Amino acid sequence: MQASRNGDGKEFVSHAPGYWSRDGGIAPEFWNDWKWQLKNRVTSLAQLESRDCGIDLSDEERSGVILSGDKLALAVTPHFFNLIPREKNPDDPIRRQVIPRVEETWSSSYDMADPCGEDSHMPVPGLVHRYPDRVLFLVTDRCAAYCRYCTRSRVVSGVGEQELHTDFEEAFRYLEQHTEVRDVLLSGGDALIFSDEKLDKLLSRLRAIKHIEFLRIGTRVPIFLPQRITPELCAILAKHHPLWMSVHVNHPRELTIEVKEALERLANAGIPLGNQSVLLAGVNDDLETMKTLVHKLLMCRVRPYYIYQCDLINGSSHLRTSVAKGIEIIEGLRGHTTGYAVPQYVIDAPGGGGKVPINPGYVLYHDNEKIVIRNYEGKIFEYPETGGDQSVQFAPQREYHDEYLYS
Ligand code: SF4
Repeated sequence: MQASRNGDGKEFVSHAPGYWSRDGGIAPEFWNDWKWQLKNRVTSLAQLESRDCGIDLSDEERSGVILSGDKLALAVTPHFFNLIPREKNPDDPIRRQVIPRVEETWSSSYDMADPCGEDSHMPVPGLVHRYPDRVLFLVTDRCAAYCRYCTRSRVVSGVGEQELHTDFEEAFRYLEQHTEVRDVLLSGGDALIFSDEKLDKLLSRLRAIKHIEFLRIGTRVPIFLPQRITPELCAILAKHHPLWMSVHVNHPRELTIEVKEALERLANAGIPLGNQSVLLAGVNDDLETMKTLVHKLLMCRVRPYYIYQCDLINGSSHLRTSVAKGIEIIEGLRGHTTGYAVPQYVIDAPGGGGKVPINPGYVLYHDNEKIVIRNYEGKIFEYPETGGDQSVQFAPQREYHDEYLYS
């Protein structure tokens, strides 16, 4: 399938083994083996440009591969690498996500190493406790492939400016003592690259802590490496319910037949699936692409959950969009398509303020007598406030719109 912007990737297609089938090819038992996929990742300039299955790099990409290597490693699984058309098209939305570009070495005055302020909320190495009742557990610094806009590029991939030294025993002790923690999100890095045994042990250890009600895994493995979602893995995950999963898909072309089948295996194991997309320039910053993506996600039994404004991570300014673009996308989805397909657009407040929901202005006026609202078609409606509840604070949360107040 060729790359183009709008409406690209509406169909579920398979690319296996695609470019790897040249010169005798690769046997399906290797291609379908997640360990083979990990071992054969594209990690160097020579592999990127190899005669057999390489791509035609632009000068900006070639310089990016050479110069960005001490910031975030290059790694792309053969499965995901096959999604990139081979002709020279640095604007391809899949390519922009995983192939380094020289712009990564530029810095803007807003860039930060730790835009979500995680390091300052880490009571134990590897455990981020920022919200009252839940923690983020950074269980590894490795992923199946590396996203060029990764918010944790300071620690992820093992070549950045910091090292992740998660202290598992200390983290378990902290969790045992902090009875207010009812929700643990495993991330990193990506916990699903652990072996079945290691993951089972980790989940069992967390499940043994009685006040932990809810486990979540944030992962891009089903997308980068769908072969990892084996029936054995699904059986292990199903032992530790309630366990939910947030996957990470940015463009509809990432939802291939193999990825759809992997997501279905997870759903069949009783795992509720949500998707987190990052709004990225030249990848998904248009309504048609996002609409195609959210519709395909529902067909994979995945609920679109968040669209993140791209964090102010070092070297990502070429991938960031305006906030106005994100609001425009939500405006174009809400009311125009299935409610389950509409994710919440959020900005992770720089410096550690947490996720802040960003919505188009549907509330035009609100006081203790009425609320004035507009619908997705721009029609205006009033709804009475009941009881004149004096304990409710109206300002400053309300959004007043000048065109309503002064017209
Ligand atoms: S999969 Fe997640 S943690 Fe890994 S590089 Fe991508 S965004 Fe970062």
